Amino acid sequence: MTDFRTIIEPFRIHSVQAIRKLSSAEREAALHRAGHNLFGLQGDEVLIDLLTDSGTGAMSSTQWAAMMDGDESYAGSRSFNRFQEAVADLTGFTEVIPTHQGRAAEHILFTVMVRSGQVVPNNTHFDTTRANIEYVGAEARDLVIAEGRVPASTHPFKGNMDVDALEATIDEVGAANIPLVMVTITNNSGGGQPVSLENLRAVRAVCDHYGLPLFLDACRFAENAYFIKLREPGCAEKSAREIAREMFALADGCTMSAKKDGLANIGGFLALNDPETAKSARNLLILTEGFPTYGGLAGYDMEAIAVGLHEVLDEEYLRYRLRSTAYLAERAEKAGVPTVRPPGGHAVYLDAKGLLPHIPAAQYPAQALAIELYRVGGVRGVEIGSVMFGKPRPDGSEAPSAMELVRLAIPRRTYTQSHIDYVGEVIEAVANQREAIRGYRITEQAPWLRHFTARFEPLA
Ligand SMILES: *Cc1c(COP(=O)(O)O)cnc(C)c1O
Repeated sequence: MTDFRTIIEPFRIHSVQAIRKLSSAEREAALHRAGHNLFGLQGDEVLIDLLTDSGTGAMSSTQWAAMMDGDESYAGSRSFNRFQEAVADLTGFTEVIPTHQGRAAEHILFTVMVRSGQVVPNNTHFDTTRANIEYVGAEARDLVIAEGRVPASTHPFKGNMDVDALEATIDEVGAANIPLVMVTITNNSGGGQPVSLENLRAVRAVCDHYGLPLFLDACRFAENAYFIKLREPGCAEKSAREIAREMFALADGCTMSAKKDGLANIGGFLALNDPETAKSARNLLILTEGFPTYGGLAGYDMEAIAVGLHEVLDEEYLRYRLRSTAYLAERAEKAGVPTVRPPGGHAVYLDAKGLLPHIPAAQYPAQALAIELYRVGGVRGVEIGSVMFGKPRPDGSEAPSAMELVRLAIPRRTYTQSHIDYVGEVIEAVANQREAIRGYRITEQAPWLRHFTARFEPLA
C-alpha cells in the first residue's frame, strides 16, 4: 500500500459531546469572576480545553465495555485481579496498590519512606510530587541535565537526570539522608521531555552503588517508551511494550496516575517490589484510600485502567499522539511564539519569557499569556512558571522559576486536527498583539499549590 504522508487519528468517533464558544464579553466576565485564574473557569466557559491531559481523554468502546463487567465486591474484586495482572505484566512489580489518582500514591509512598530533613532527587518534580515531599518536611531537589532548562536546546532526551549532580547530592547530604531517587517519565514540568534508557541505566548504577531505591513517576511511560524507540540508538526495532518493560525493570517501584497513560478518567497506583514497604503502604491505604483490592477506585475504574494500560502501547496510537503534539508546536513556532524544543509528548510549552520580554518574572508573564489565549479564543492552557514554582525569599520578594511556560496539554483521543488548527490561529492572534499584554499581581494565595486557587489583578 502507498505510504501516505498524513498521520491520521487512528480511531473513528463513536460518541460526541457539544462545545460552544462564548462571546468575548462573556469570556471577559468569566475571567473577572475567576480572579484571572483559569482554574476558576467553568468547563462550559472554555471552547478548547488544554488545561491538562489528566483524566480528560476519551475512552475506547473496549474500555466502556470492560466497565460494564466491573466487579464492585468490597474485598477480593475480580476487577482488582484484572487490574493487578495488567500492572504486574507491564511493570514486573509484584506489589500493586490501587489509588484514586497519582498524588495519593505519592502521599502514601512518601509518608512510608521519607522522613523530615531528608532529600529526594528527581529529574524534575511534578507539582504534587514536590508538595507531597515538602509536606512530610523533606526537600524535593530537581537534577535535570542542563539542556533540560534551556527551551531552545534540541537534545533528544532533555528529561535526563544529571548523573554527576545526583552523585554530588548524595556526597553532600549522605546516602542515609536520601530515602529514594525518583525519575519522572516523561518529565512533565520540564516540558514533557523523555528520559533515555541509557540515562535510566546510569541512574540505576548510582543507586546500586549507594544502595538507594529507584522509583519512576511513570505517568507517561508509553510516550516515553515511544520517544526511546524513535530516538535512542539500537531501540528502533524494539516494540514500545518491550521498551516500557525495560524501563520498569530498572526501577524498584513506581507511582502512576492512570489519568495520563492509563487512558482512564480517574485512578492511579503505587507498584513496587519490597513487601515490607508495601505492607506499610497498604496499612496507610486502608486509612486514607480504601481496602487494598480497590484503593480509591470503583471496580469499573480498575477495568478501564487494565484495558487502557494495554491500548496505550499501540504504536499507531503513539505515533499519532506524538505527531499531533509536534504539529501544534510547529503552528506556534510559525506564529512566532517560541516553544520548548523539541516538542514533548503530551503538551506544547509556549515560552512566555521569549514572547513577552517586557513582562518581568515578578509580574508572571506566563500567567499573562495563558489569560490572553482564553480572552482571545476561549483556549485554556496552564501557567508553568513563577506562579507555580516561585519561592518566597526572606525579604518578601520571590525567587522566580527557571522558565516561564504556558502548557497546552492535549487530551488523549479527544480533539481533531481542525481543533488544533483553530488553537494555532488563536496563538497567532495573541502573538500579533504581544506588546499590549500586561503583567499581573497576586491578590490572594494559599500556602502550597497556590496556582490552583490564587487570584490575580492585571497591572496598569
Ligand atoms: C499528573 C501527575 C502526577 C499526579 O497525578 P494525579 O493523578 O493528578 O494525582 C504526578 N506526576 C506527574 C509527572 C504527573 O504528570
